[in-house]
Amino acid sequence: MRFVVTGAAGFIGSHLTEALLADGHDVHAVDCFTDYYDVAEKEANAAGFHVDRVDLADEPLVLTGIDGVYHLAGQPGARSFGEAFPLYVRRNVLATQKVFEACAEAGVRVVFASSSSVYGDAESYPTGEDARPRPLNPYGMTKLACEQLAYAYARSFGLDVITLRYFTVYGARQRPDMFFRRVVERLLDGDAFHVYGTGEQSRSFTYVGDVVAATRAAMERGVAGATYNVGGGSEASMTEAIALLEEISGRRLAVEHEPAVKGDMLRTNADISKLVHDTGWRPGTELRDGLAAMWSWAAAKVAAE
Ligand code: NAD
Repeated sequence: MRFVVTGAAGFIGSHLTEALLADGHDVHAVDCFTDYYDVAEKEANAAGFHVDRVDLADEPLVLTGIDGVYHLAGQPGARSFGEAFPLYVRRNVLATQKVFEACAEAGVRVVFASSSSVYGDAESYPTGEDARPRPLNPYGMTKLACEQLAYAYARSFGLDVITLRYFTVYGARQRPDMFFRRVVERLLDGDAFHVYGTGEQSRSFTYVGDVVAATRAAMERGVAGATYNVGGGSEASMTEAIALLEEISGRRLAVEHEPAVKGDMLRTNADISKLVHDTGWRPGTELRDGLAAMWSWAAAKVAAE
């Protein structure tokens, strides 16, 4: 089949593109290589395939002969207050509106990467998709706006759309601003690691290979119009995860505490039963195994530098 992957040079998009190519599909990979983090990292992520440099907020997607669109492009990260705000509106809301418009017109299914951030501090745990969304930061707010756009395009123009709420994804190539990435880098260079808040914040950490499988399952077997949580199946606190990484690496992390970041969620815990029921997907990677894979990747990267 022939798919479009947007955000293909990013952390998750590059893994998804490689998995589709490995299974013999054609992929039209799209990314504009934003400078949210080092562009050289994105070039390395996408070293194995061609990427069309298109800014989706400016140019419409051309979907002739395309069987499905994986829309992962966006501006991630919870630190989205203040001067960063317009970038979140542009790279999430404006770009996604153009993608949905093109998909609706072409009659092509789109799987959209939303986020657990739409829940904020959720009403209940484990959190099901029907929990009231109450994002704590503009990032979550822009993802929720995209979800509402999906609904509006589905109702008014018959858009075949599936929304996936990813819960804290980790693994090789994780973005440099993310928690595990910063932990493994500090374990490798010996510098102090700054924990924001108590360290008791917890997450449904989700291995990138499981996210790729969930995303493909949603494209193949998801129910049109559905919203699904994509979570790793178990919850761990930052402190527990640090202890696991110390064990895996055989090193000690020098931890310094900083005040909590405004807009950071205290806890996420995904109820994944809906996606399991509709597609048969299940997360297969234990946190310890996923972290061991991530540690090997980071250590090899540093050794090669
Ligand atoms: P990433 O930043 O590594 O990848 C996103 C890519 O989108 C980047 O390479 C960027 O250059 C590209 N992009 C941004 N705006 C664009 C535009 N206007 N046109 C074309 N390309 C553009 O992020 P990621 O961690 O791989 O996340 C992928 C998607 O999943 C994002 O939408 C993110 O919000 C969502 N998500 C990620 C996580 C996570 O834990 N990583 C959790 C929840 C949701």
